[in-house]
Amino acid sequence: GSADAEYDVLVLGGGPGGYSAAFRAADLGLKVVLVERYATLGGVCLNVGCIPSKALLHVAAVMDEVSHMADLGVDFGAPSVNVDKLRGHKEKVIGKLTGGLAQMAKMRKVTVVRGYGSFVGANHLEVEETSGSGQDKTGSKTVLAFKRAIIAAGSQAVRLPFFPQDDRIVDSTGALALKEVPKKMLIVGGGIIGLEMGTVYSTLGARLDVVEMMDGLMQGADRDLVKVWEKMNKHRFDKIMLKTKTVGAEATAEGIKVQFEGLDGTKSEGVYDLVLQAVGRTPNGKKLAADKAGVAVTDRGFINVDIQMRTSVPHIFAIGDIVGQPMLAHKAVHEAHVAAEVIAGELQGNKELASAAFNARVIPSVAYTDPEVAWVGLTEEQAKAQGIKVKKGLFPWAASGRAIANGRDEGFTKLLFDDSPEAHGHGKILGGGIVGTHAGDMIGEIALAIEMGADAVDIGKTIHPHPTLGESIGMAAEVAHGSCTDVP
Ligand code: FAD
Repeated sequence: GSADAEYDVLVLGGGPGGYSAAFRAADLGLKVVLVERYATLGGVCLNVGCIPSKALLHVAAVMDEVSHMADLGVDFGAPSVNVDKLRGHKEKVIGKLTGGLAQMAKMRKVTVVRGYGSFVGANHLEVEETSGSGQDKTGSKTVLAFKRAIIAAGSQAVRLPFFPQDDRIVDSTGALALKEVPKKMLIVGGGIIGLEMGTVYSTLGARLDVVEMMDGLMQGADRDLVKVWEKMNKHRFDKIMLKTKTVGAEATAEGIKVQFEGLDGTKSEGVYDLVLQAVGRTPNGKKLAADKAGVAVTDRGFINVDIQMRTSVPHIFAIGDIVGQPMLAHKAVHEAHVAAEVIAGELQGNKELASAAFNARVIPSVAYTDPEVAWVGLTEEQAKAQGIKVKKGLFPWAASGRAIANGRDEGFTKLLFDDSPEAHGHGKILGGGIVGTHAGDMIGEIALAIEMGADAVDIGKTIHPHPTLGESIGMAAEVAHGSCTDVP
């Protein structure tokens, strides 16, 4: 086929980056086409990432909570799990959200083209129609012409090369499919995705082993936060193998036999009904024929961009997982808005819009485990490594009326303030971390405080409602300021 219409903006990829860019561009009055190989919009996040994992984690958290209720005087007895029904609930959640996106695209008159996109020039993308799961190409091709493009093609799970092809070896997508609950499960990679899926499967009845190359689980978070999670989750694991590599695997009738090697040379082996590979994600940059458009792609498949999300080609932008870490949906969405605004500004001669830039100071991270672990901005470990003097305000939830009433007072809230001589004792907040139930819902306040340049007095004097877990943020600030005299 040939190009019969030129679009103002072509967006490649329908994940949180892509649909957010397409919607913002359409809202700003541009003619937009969105290319996605799968039947539904939403990308990894809605279909096989953030949302389905949280649908399952919610159920796991309720099950865990209910199991503690006997101590409080209410015994629900042993749960009876219907995996088919649970999977059905997860599918329904996805369907609601992806259906909503399709409607929003229609309302905004965004043209959605289903197929696999490859660049054929600096202003043209060829789309080969796909069907079924999105992997099957039908052979029917169209070429779309565009003035500007936004690449939002995302990332995919890394596969360890020595793992055999076997249904019992899955990545996060396979784990979310929730075919059945294994007796014994191995999680390769102790990061957020692996530990979230481990939480779900263990609550449903699986025993877990985890293997991690680094010297601790949940890298990136301060160890004091992770320690609380570890103490509460030890019971799920038979073995936590740190500083250990997975070096081989074979499929046998009894299970997947996996070989490990410690960094000190110790060798060991385990047999598993299910193995989850969660060793990271790799960007899709090398699969788009980006060179045909002149767009530079790194050896690892990332596309480098400036703070306006512009690639090496000035009229082509890139956003989301494909431009680098952290690979998080909320980062993709913000980058999407920047790219769409810059493009609209340029095409419409609006200088203010055209000068949009991604200048967020911080991007929060959350492990939606039980308890949750959330952190934002500078960590204590980074402060130490970078020689930044900080004043710490730590509020233990053992002193929080609400946490105690909830029967969940294992957590704490920690804030870090600039304590350099130039701060003269009124240092701004640089970072914070929370471990405890609902930590992820609360970390946004600390992100806001950092963006606004708040100091300990600003946060401590802000009246938080009592009794809430959120007031632990105000209390932590008072601790840092030295004015915390009583506790609720
Ligand atoms: P993606 O969501 O990867 O979307 C890219 C889209 O482009 C895909 O739909 C793909 O089909 C399409 N595509 C790619 N190439 C082509 C092509 N050539 N032609 C046509 N279409 C193409 N993040 C969070 O912030 N919070 C969470 O709780 C969270 N949980 C997660 C849990 C799991 C199990 C996983 C795997 C990820 C999770 N993430 C989470 C990460 C989050 O999913 C990603 O950061 C986010 O989806 C990135 O958005 P994106 O738009 O950059 O790319």
